[in-house]
Amino acid sequence: MKKIINSIIVMMTIAALFLTACGSALSSDSAAVTEPASINVLASTSFLADIAQNVAGDHLTVASLLPFGADPHAYQAAPSDVAKIAESNLLILNGVEYEHFIESLLENAGGERLIITATDGLTPNQMEDEENAGQMTGDPHMWLDPNRVITYVENIRDGLIEVDPDGAEAYKANADAYIAQLKDLDKWIVEQVNTIPAERRLLVTNHEAAGYFAERYGFEIVGAIIPSLSTDAGTSAKEMAALIEQIKATGAPAIFLGEVENPDLANQIADETDVKVVDTLYLESLTDGSPAATYMDMMKHNVTQIVSALK
Ligand SMILES: [Zn+2]
Repeated sequence: MKKIINSIIVMMTIAALFLTACGSALSSDSAAVTEPASINVLASTSFLADIAQNVAGDHLTVASLLPFGADPHAYQAAPSDVAKIAESNLLILNGVEYEHFIESLLENAGGERLIITATDGLTPNQMEDEENAGQMTGDPHMWLDPNRVITYVENIRDGLIEVDPDGAEAYKANADAYIAQLKDLDKWIVEQVNTIPAERRLLVTNHEAAGYFAERYGFEIVGAIIPSLSTDAGTSAKEMAALIEQIKATGAPAIFLGEVENPDLANQIADETDVKVVDTLYLESLTDGSPAATYMDMMKHNVTQIVSALK
């Protein structure tokens, strides 16, 4: 499995941090002494920034490189992204090649920083990539299973401790508290899904995003409009026809789309079958405020939409 990040570089030495802290201690502004304000934490995208912020608590502020509503699969980096990367000391990525845009940004930004790959230690499911001569591609969508997000939290906690050892106790306590919330979320999802008759636990999605979610909560994946792990791929007339046959054969009640996905093909399929199109899931991004302001809210919102469409 090729790792997206080939090197983990600790840029800022602890000594440098101490020098900064001592510098401010000697200045008249003594209120800022214990604030590690020189640590700039950046996550690739909004749900990762939220997860990391829960671990960082009030010690550090975690920014998101991508804005709300951006689709990481199709993301085109802006020149301002180079500056954001250049200013970061700690960069948090999902990994499994989700951040296809990051290599060139890192090259252009130069400098050094600690990079945390949140999925480190997890084994991605593999899928054949038809657009790429049948090569196997790893499925990056692990955040849609809260149990796997526990590993995200552990990796983020360890990275924060590495750049800010003084905050270690707080990061450990915050991580434990958030892991407890993730376990509660998992239990809640199981309860919700149990209200769907077993034979109706069928998922049709725009692209192949729901694999880990389906695996954990006992859904069958009937198919995807774009039979790819990325939205940045196409579909053929033959694939569309096959999916329509699958939907008719299984009686799948609905097609679920993420907010950033184009509903045109889904609506075409709905014209030929009895499915309804639910285009209000948030799979790849949080929203600025309700209904998916946090990772927890995003998951609860999606599950509520899925349950009400399939029940
Ligand atoms: Zn996706």
